Amino acid sequence: MAKTPETEHPVKAFGWAARDASGVFSPFNFSRRATGEKDVQFKVLYCGVCHSDLHMSKNEWGVTQYPIVPGHEIVGVVTEVGSKVEKVKVGDKVGVGCLVGSCRSCDMCSQDLENYCSKQILTYSTTYTDGTITYGGYSDVMVADEHFIVRWPENLPLDAGAPLLCAGITTYSPLRYFGLDKPGIHVGIVGLGGLGHVGVKFAKAFGAKVTVISTSENKRKEAIEKLGADAFINSRDPEQMQAAAGTMDGIIDTVSAVHPVVPLMNLVKPHGKVVMVGVPEKPLEFSTFSLIMGRKTLSGSGIGGLKETQEMVDFAAKHNILADVEVIPMDYINTAMERLLKTDVKYRFVIDIGSSSRSA
Ligand code: NAP
Ligand code: ZN
Ligand code: ZN
Repeated sequence: MAKTPETEHPVKAFGWAARDASGVFSPFNFSRRATGEKDVQFKVLYCGVCHSDLHMSKNEWGVTQYPIVPGHEIVGVVTEVGSKVEKVKVGDKVGVGCLVGSCRSCDMCSQDLENYCSKQILTYSTTYTDGTITYGGYSDVMVADEHFIVRWPENLPLDAGAPLLCAGITTYSPLRYFGLDKPGIHVGIVGLGGLGHVGVKFAKAFGAKVTVISTSENKRKEAIEKLGADAFINSRDPEQMQAAAGTMDGIIDTVSAVHPVVPLMNLVKPHGKVVMVGVPEKPLEFSTFSLIMGRKTLSGSGIGGLKETQEMVDFAAKHNILADVEVIPMDYINTAMERLLKTDVKYRFVIDIGSSSRSA
């Protein structure tokens, strides 16, 4: 008889899964592999809700394998380690982000860029090396190879820190790589959601001048007074956009839906860079003129490698960078997803997995 998610592995696990493209979540009993010699098993305490979880649970990118247990901003406490594990011990706080595997030998892997390995294994809805499907952090127990485990700094809160594992690294990495991490640089952050608000905090910590470019006028005051942005542009107002034309060195675009790109290209100086990190479900339109006039660059960036993720978490702990979170119980997830779609969250939902009751 074919094994089910509940019987394919020895360790009992409980989470919430979407079963089809409706993206509706319900309780789900499944299983995790036994802790291998290089594996770390941990009790999940908190897991952030990334917009990628929403895209994936509704199969908006066409790659979802159901049932899907999303969640790739996972933090918890180690309960068991394999005999060859060196990185952490039982009782340590740890995190897992978007990756649980890569080939470990290609050009990208050897440069600590597992995030660009063609054989990368994502934390959920991807086929693992043993042929089973990966399940993410909307669940009570996690097992991962120690290479993909992030050591959690002692002073970093677990709940507000969890979103660093995706939202954090996805903005930190391009700010660093594209040279937008220097004092005096003018950085635009498009979309003040989970990624965007953490991006503002990192850019400010690097000493940059930060302008938020948003469709939500109601975020203006908070962006400046609470998040520390220097300026706020309502992207739906052509006059505000025109007034800022040619002023920015680089832009990180975190928008989750189809939106105009050419007006963003106009905001950067000659040689300016517009870096896409948001992944709308449909292709975006841009004009070659907007690149040619000023030799501008349109680029993209995906999460970050494990070494950089550790560096980012340590940097966040040192500079007191956390997400602004709304902590929710697991059974609130369907409402949370509806609100996320309406940008009705400031700025990241985090599921309190540790105190959510286990039932199915
Ligand atoms: P989020 O919290 O929902 O934030 C997205 C923001 O985009 C919203 O807060 C909103 O900001 C803006 N927005 C939404 N709909 C819009 C529209 N129709 N037009 C213009 N702006 C709109 O999402 P998130 O978790 O930050 O994720 C953002 C995107 O990044 C998603 O597509 C996600 O899949 C992707 N992602 C990519 C990576 C990567 O490695 N590249 C990693 C993680 C996530 P305002 O209200 O300020 O306009
Ligand atoms: Zn994510
Ligand atoms: Zn590789």
